[in-house]
Amino acid sequence: MLGYPECCIRFFRQRNDWNRFSFLAEIHRASLGRPRHWLCNPLTKDRTYSYIYHMPCRWDCSATRELAGRLRSEVARREPELVRQVDRHLRLPALVFYERKHFVLDGTLQGNRIEYRAVHHPDADPEGRALQQRLARGDALELEGDTVRVFHQGEELDRIQARSEGFAPEHPFLIQFDQD
Ligand SMILES: [Zn+2]
Repeated sequence: MLGYPECCIRFFRQRNDWNRFSFLAEIHRASLGRPRHWLCNPLTKDRTYSYIYHMPCRWDCSATRELAGRLRSEVARREPELVRQVDRHLRLPALVFYERKHFVLDGTLQGNRIEYRAVHHPDADPEGRALQQRLARGDALELEGDTVRVFHQGEELDRIQARSEGFAPEHPFLIQFDQD
């Protein structure tokens, strides 16, 4: 009824099980080696900066691109400045722990490292806000397995450990959607 693509509904039914999986990490795993189209970026969907409100089955899901593209053109006709802002935010790199704890960074991703000037936390989770402050003290981070190392001017400041056990397990990854 909401018009979400069938392929995405199917994948959501299979893997959106918070007792077993981090659903974002499942999408990421299923998308390995494929393009990462920014129109399929769901990370800011609880804020204004998004064109979708469903979880895509892949980062290059063509049905999602189509749906988001149509909404984007409609918004662009009325609010071109908003579209410029949304487009920019969807292309920023992100550090993802799980669905309610992820961070969008104003910076660039290279390999397992993001250098950044600012940290945004698009969720309401209070634990996430505390982590946002820890990340904001740094200017670079590196992900090694389940550990995030935070640096400031080359010196390690902090280490953040993901929690991979129990309900809503964290399987951290870094992502930046393709720029074109
Ligand atoms: Zn899909």
